[in-house]
Amino acid sequence: MQTHQYDVVIVGAGGAGMRAALEASGRARTAVISKLYPTRSHTGAAQGGMCAALANVEEDNWEWHTFDTVKGGDYLVDQDAAEVMAKEAIDAVLDLEHMGLPFNRTPEGRIDQRRFGGHTRNHGEAAVRRACYAADRTGHMILQTLYQNCVKQNVEFYNEFYVLDLIVDHDLSAGHVPEGEEVNATGVVAYDLATGEIHVFQAKSIVFATGGAGKIFKTTSNAHTLTGDGMALALRRGFPLEDMEFFQFHPTGLAGLGILLSEAARGEGAILRNSEGERFMERYAPTIKDLAPRDIVARSMANEVREGRGCGPNKDYVLLDLTHLEPAHIDAKLPDITEFARTYLGVEPYTEPVPVYPTAHYAMGGIPTNIQAEVLRNDQDVVKGLYAAGECACVSVHGSNRLGTNSLLDINVFGKRAGRAAAEYALTAEFRELPEDPTASVVAELENMRSRPDGERVADLRKALQETMDRNAQVFRTAESLTEALDDVRALQKRYRNVSVQDKGRMFNTDLLEALELGFLLDIAEVTVVAAINRKESRGGHFREDFPKRDDVNYMKHTMIYRRPLAQDGEAAEVFDGSDEYFSHAEEFDDYQVVLGSKPVTVTRYQPMERKY
Ligand SMILES: Cc1cc2nc3c(=O)[nH]c(=O)nc-3n(C[C@H](O)[C@H](O)[C@H](O)COP(=O)(O)OP(=O)(O)OC[C@H]3O[C@@H](n4cnc5c(N)ncnc54)[C@H](O)[C@@H]3O)c2cc1C
Repeated sequence: MQTHQYDVVIVGAGGAGMRAALEASGRARTAVISKLYPTRSHTGAAQGGMCAALANVEEDNWEWHTFDTVKGGDYLVDQDAAEVMAKEAIDAVLDLEHMGLPFNRTPEGRIDQRRFGGHTRNHGEAAVRRACYAADRTGHMILQTLYQNCVKQNVEFYNEFYVLDLIVDHDLSAGHVPEGEEVNATGVVAYDLATGEIHVFQAKSIVFATGGAGKIFKTTSNAHTLTGDGMALALRRGFPLEDMEFFQFHPTGLAGLGILLSEAARGEGAILRNSEGERFMERYAPTIKDLAPRDIVARSMANEVREGRGCGPNKDYVLLDLTHLEPAHIDAKLPDITEFARTYLGVEPYTEPVPVYPTAHYAMGGIPTNIQAEVLRNDQDVVKGLYAAGECACVSVHGSNRLGTNSLLDINVFGKRAGRAAAEYALTAEFRELPEDPTASVVAELENMRSRPDGERVADLRKALQETMDRNAQVFRTAESLTEALDDVRALQKRYRNVSVQDKGRMFNTDLLEALELGFLLDIAEVTVVAAINRKESRGGHFREDFPKRDDVNYMKHTMIYRRPLAQDGEAAEVFDGSDEYFSHAEEFDDYQVVLGSKPVTVTRYQPMERKY
């Protein structure tokens, strides 16, 4: 075992992690730990753009951007956070430009902007150009730019190191915190892929920037590595996850594959059509049509297919039509995604419409934070020294449905805030003592998996998980389908306890790490489904066929979901941190239970209204 000491440890080297690193490393001794080589992070796959009300091409302002974000999120957005994001968006784009990011330009030499779903002028009047972009590889450019600047700033990276545990001085998953006491994060335990060695990083501040969890689904735009590690580690330590029932299904995945075709295609003028050639979005969102927010477009597409107007031999997809766009325009603005259509479906987008269907894309929920990016351990108290930003966090600027281009923005704005806050705290704080052997549980788990002669296979369990989630917790949900998903997930969690790996070695044992990632996925799927069962309304990305209306009376609140020890009598432990009103529902599982609470939504300017486009 090796030990290290840093003022700030950042877990994750995607956009959020590296943006945090740039802020922290000039102020305090900082290390970035990443299971991937930084430029392989999923941020690099982002296509369409990053929005800011620059008004470089038409009139716009941050207040309209805030409103669109709040309305797009179906009013579950914390409006103070959305205001911060929309205001700081402008500097976030300019920061990147100054770091060297090659944005597309207008003929006058300004940063060009394109249209994207749900971004409007004057509170919904018409679509507005708000997304800054670099062709359809904006994320790639952001990631490369941030990485180059980190290298320039001598940020220390530990690449291909997997963080497998978060060290805290009070393990909430084991019980209560004594009244009036603080909870502090003190370090992380990591596994070095190359050697199989365990490392302990002691830190005054820790920033989680571990990205999403799309791999709980089978059809997804997400990379294989998006397994919800940071969220699961926080949950296992007894910290809540917020709004996990809200998962975004992006309308235009390549049919049958899930590979993403950016909304930028529709931003540039592409149109969705059903088997009758009809531009069906005119019926669902008469004002902004194909540029309605993703939850609405995805649901409309699924509905067309259900009602028999799907295309293809099985009538199970719709078509994205770019054939009326000039080939030169397509080549200039959408080169990568049109190439995906050629490569993976053998379709020529100049002349043929592209088969598309919704694909699991983005986790609106995650580790709850305040606007300083400090992690919450209940509906109000923070964990000292722990921060989160990016897709693993829930601040919550996306509410129940994220607008396109708001995530690349989120990771820059809140990544920066997290890095700065973490460094500032570290400069005032002392290192805290670590437990005697902080690696014990990780080492035991690894040894168990390695030494089990035979047992359940990772690939089988993961496939079963992804299939039940696709079948039962996708665009349309009911109590019945979700209950089936929960039963399946829990059966798989039981089987997982007997999982074994074929590679018993120490060096580059990816087999072993995939097994651990499966454990994270199962835990995230469980809380996603429990939260979805509990929310008996439809809002944003969460659509309950048995409760098709939004219900502001009962559900205008964030879900907070926790793990707690199973009380002896099987009842929910009814008090912790003095807030007994948390418990609306409890689900038992073996040695722990999943417990639900809530947190109020912060409303500043915009009272909830009916959402029409
Ligand atoms: C195909 C696609 C296209 C998209 N297009 C857009 C777009 O145009 N505009 C937009 O706004 N959004 C877009 N998004 C969403 C957006 O790209 C992501 O939400 C965002 O980039 C996430 O950034 P992040 O830094 O939070 O996480 P990531 O970039 O996913 O980085 C996560 C990091 O955490 C590390 N990590 C994870 N687990 C561990 C662990 N256990 N130990 C150590 N390190 C760990 C990884 O190594 C990685 O470095 C798109 C997403 C996809 C999938």
